[in-house]
Amino acid sequence: MYKHDYLLDKSTVLPYALSMSEPTSSSKAYQMPESDASNPSLSMPGGCELEPSATAPVSSSRPRKSPKPKGLNLATLVNRYGTSEKCRELLCRVRWPNGAHCPRCNDSAVELETDKQLFYCKRCDYQFTVTAGTIFNDSHLPLEKWFMATLLLCEAKKGISAHQIHRTLGISYKTAWYLCHRIRAAMKEAAKPKLTGTVEMDETYVGGRNIGQGHAAKHDNKEIVIGIRQRNGDLRLFHANDVKAGTLAQYIRENVKADVDVIITDDFASYPYAAKLAGVPHKSINHSGRVYVMGEIHTNTVENAFSLLKRGIMGTWHRISPKHLASYLEEMEFRFNRRKRADLFIDTLRHMVTAPVLTFQKLTKESAA
Ligand SMILES: [Zn+2]
Repeated sequence: MYKHDYLLDKSTVLPYALSMSEPTSSSKAYQMPESDASNPSLSMPGGCELEPSATAPVSSSRPRKSPKPKGLNLATLVNRYGTSEKCRELLCRVRWPNGAHCPRCNDSAVELETDKQLFYCKRCDYQFTVTAGTIFNDSHLPLEKWFMATLLLCEAKKGISAHQIHRTLGISYKTAWYLCHRIRAAMKEAAKPKLTGTVEMDETYVGGRNIGQGHAAKHDNKEIVIGIRQRNGDLRLFHANDVKAGTLAQYIRENVKADVDVIITDDFASYPYAAKLAGVPHKSINHSGRVYVMGEIHTNTVENAFSLLKRGIMGTWHRISPKHLASYLEEMEFRFNRRKRADLFIDTLRHMVTAPVLTFQKLTKESAA
């Protein structure tokens, strides 16, 4: 068995998955065996991969140059999750690690109707599937294609366009566009830990029609992106309205702990006052004097993230409507902060079965707004 074998072997698959493959019974009450329920490590085999310190911040004390762990590749994905049944089994385990629950009344005494892959809640007389009330809601696209698109989005360091997904998976462009937006919406995280230690902050300008150097080229028609990155830690990206000191101070307050060691920026005029307003220690590097590194004082790690973002915007998405920039930034941030995790794909699926539903109407309304 592989080290990162997410499917695990048959004996370790949770009971509903077992009852799914049991040909003799058509309807089976699903209940977690007591021994399993009392021992989470038994009920969630390979727990280290399926539950990788979900509560702890991913960031701190990460070694600088650790080799990238081997996650899933497309060939393995197709091999393991090549059918809707197999995809459903995995979604069940990711969505309900302690056994299926009714999404309506939260009762755990649900039955699995094997043939239709439907769950039934006796208490509130409700039939549901593992994808009910999730971002997969009302999708006619086979789950295998959802899984492939998700992996492609996870694995593409610089992002992947809806056009590419449309060509690679042989689905219509409209379907691909909606699919990408839904996966991206699932990557949006509600609660993010505040950054601490040594934190770099910088601003950059993306999009617009003017390319080149200089003040005018920098600002005309362009959107402002603020990047904040904990050294050896997480990245935060924001689409900002302006770079006034008050605005920057707000981003610091919302994303950086008050007891941060230091915030390092370039010598852009707003930062000293922003740091003062936010009440955090501040050091700057004199970029206008062509000084880029002074010992530990530099903004290189946040700039590395910016260069990835820019290559993504130029090379992959070509043009991003300002309305959607924030969600592209969320996607980039999500992937960047998990780039060293072998369970990136599983973690994305976990977000997809817990994120709020994004309907086509809502998305197109936002696009038109
Ligand atoms: Zn119910």
